Amino acid sequence: MDLREIKGIGESAVKLLAKLDIRSASDLVENVPRDYDDYSKVQAVRDIRPGIVTVKAKISSLKPKYSKKGLHMTEGLVMDETGGVRVVWFNQPYRAKSIKPDEEYYLSGEFANNYKYLVLNNPVIEPVSNFPVHTARLVPKYKLTKGLSAHQLRKYTKSAFDKASIPEILPSWLIEQKKLESRRDALFGMHFPDTLDALRIAKRRVAFDELFEMMLASQLNKKEFASESAANISFSKDAVKSFVSSLPYTLTNDQRKSAWSILQDMTQGYPMNRLLEGDVGSGKTVVAAIAIVNVDNAGLQSAFMAPTEILARQHATVLCDLLPEPLANSVVFLSGSMTKKQKDLALAKIASGEAKLVVGTHALIQSGVEFKSLGLVVIDEQHRFGVEQRKKLQSKAALVPHVLNMTATPIPRSLTLTLYGEMSVSVIAQKPPGRSPTDTKILMPEQRQQLYKQLVPDLEAGRQAFVVCPLIEEDPAVFKPSRSLSVNAIHKQLEKWLKGYSVGLLHGKMKGDEKEQVMQDFVDNKHQVLVSTTVVEVGVDVPNATTMIIEGADRFGLAQVHQLRGRVGRGEHAGKCYLVLTDNQNPSRRIRLLERETDGFKLAEYDLELRGPGAIYGTMQHGALDLRVAKITDTELITEARESAEEFMTRGENLLEYPQLKTRVEYLRKITNLN
Ligand code: ADP
Ligand code: MG
Repeated sequence: MDLREIKGIGESAVKLLAKLDIRSASDLVENVPRDYDDYSKVQAVRDIRPGIVTVKAKISSLKPKYSKKGLHMTEGLVMDETGGVRVVWFNQPYRAKSIKPDEEYYLSGEFANNYKYLVLNNPVIEPVSNFPVHTARLVPKYKLTKGLSAHQLRKYTKSAFDKASIPEILPSWLIEQKKLESRRDALFGMHFPDTLDALRIAKRRVAFDELFEMMLASQLNKKEFASESAANISFSKDAVKSFVSSLPYTLTNDQRKSAWSILQDMTQGYPMNRLLEGDVGSGKTVVAAIAIVNVDNAGLQSAFMAPTEILARQHATVLCDLLPEPLANSVVFLSGSMTKKQKDLALAKIASGEAKLVVGTHALIQSGVEFKSLGLVVIDEQHRFGVEQRKKLQSKAALVPHVLNMTATPIPRSLTLTLYGEMSVSVIAQKPPGRSPTDTKILMPEQRQQLYKQLVPDLEAGRQAFVVCPLIEEDPAVFKPSRSLSVNAIHKQLEKWLKGYSVGLLHGKMKGDEKEQVMQDFVDNKHQVLVSTTVVEVGVDVPNATTMIIEGADRFGLAQVHQLRGRVGRGEHAGKCYLVLTDNQNPSRRIRLLERETDGFKLAEYDLELRGPGAIYGTMQHGALDLRVAKITDTELITEARESAEEFMTRGENLLEYPQLKTRVEYLRKITNLN
């Protein structure tokens, strides 16, 4: 419905509202408050004490006047049967005319000392009615724009409820089952709640709708995957058993369980879509290798993709060592930097099926790569592999490959449900035996020079160190650190402090091949120290690196620091991690958690609660992170919404019957299916 039909809204208001993305009456209704002023307690004038108060009173002796400083003031007397106090409005000359001496008003605002007296300072005021909007209640606060007052927006919103039809978006069976109030009442209750309790109930309903839409979007994504045909790859018991027994170690229980789920997934005739989570060093590679062996036994090819060339090369080396013959002998590598001749050779082997495992970078999904019969794609450290990318990987057989995503990011359960709702998840929580956690210490910046000096004996003994910084270069416009935290500045400093050693520099703005070169030089110990940002290249395995120094560690998410420290101590020597704070200050409770907590999931949960999903994902854009009402940490409500979305599917409901829901769900599907 058109905004102009709402009382009080004219052309200029329409323009201002558009700046807030409000273009219809229903947009007004959906524009839920950011917060509330609690003006709900109406007191007798006699009883008010300094602070925020609300009274119901008449106003007399209104006088406009100018203060000594030339400020316009309207003064008056606020009285009820119990007493009177002064009221002052600044720069509101219209007050004197608009207030009628015989009428009763609600006044909400601050009762405070002004010069010599306690006065009601600039209170919000409205005539007493049975439904006050600006006073005497929990008063909604909205995002505003210049020229549009809170007062106006509240009035418009209230009127919008009289005009707009506010349809249900949920099926009626679900509303009954969950005993939900109507969506209209819930939205109204969010704008104009009677009590805090009513607000909580209203919010929960609106949050449920929001989560339900999201969960339904992922259920539909899941269904779309399930409707595709993939090779039905049965479990080759003998091949898998003989591979597992050839390993120099026994699998942990979590590895065994994950592998089993993966093997099961591939027998279903539709594509596997599984996320395998486990800390750095938890042993994900061998789990993927088991799947690859099984796929090979069925006569199909596998592809293994990593985000960078060095990582891909490391994986290729590890897999060749790990896998049984003749599979190991048929591994082919593919990356963008290969010569045309090398590429053509690889492509020919991939097309003929001679290559049973192809390891590479994203070059693997570029056009021109044609598999003979691709059964499985393993993707390391890229959380989501969209439908589009998957389609690029179809082989001649026209079957969609099974996909296994692997990540070392500990993802809290509530995020797994919301962000990865369409995936099945396996977690490797236990580390292989005999691993000691990296010893972690917090240091002050004043201890830095000492720290780097202490590094020398380690470097002398052939060890290496990572130094991770939060910035590429200082941005004087954005923030003024008390010391330099950029890779460039710290790199310069370390070249001075560590004369005689080579200090490499790596950051995300460098060109791809430059980055690869620096990283390769570090792997080859041509650089003894590597100063870098958190570029993914740090994911490379450098068994010789034993020290991880994180500069400005308080600026990183806990899970991120945890992942970084997992990079050291992977060889025979124990790892050490130093967290250097930005300033000489008492370390926060948050950062101190890193000294004793070794569970990445606990750290991630803690950060999610405290700092939101950005702390785990950086600036990642994702529909699920734009929640308006629901809390991303509300695992209970998320689980409830997910179960309801599953029920929607099993009941065979058709989205076409729910046009409102359909529009929203389709939008969400679009943004979550993109990569
Ligand atoms: P991730 O990829 O999860 O970071 P990797 O797969 O690289 O970890 O494994 C880390 C190391 O642990 C490898 O050297 C691997 O050989 C070893 N490893 C894996 N599983 C086990 C196990 N069950 N027992 C002992 N060592 C293991
Ligand atoms: Mg790995």
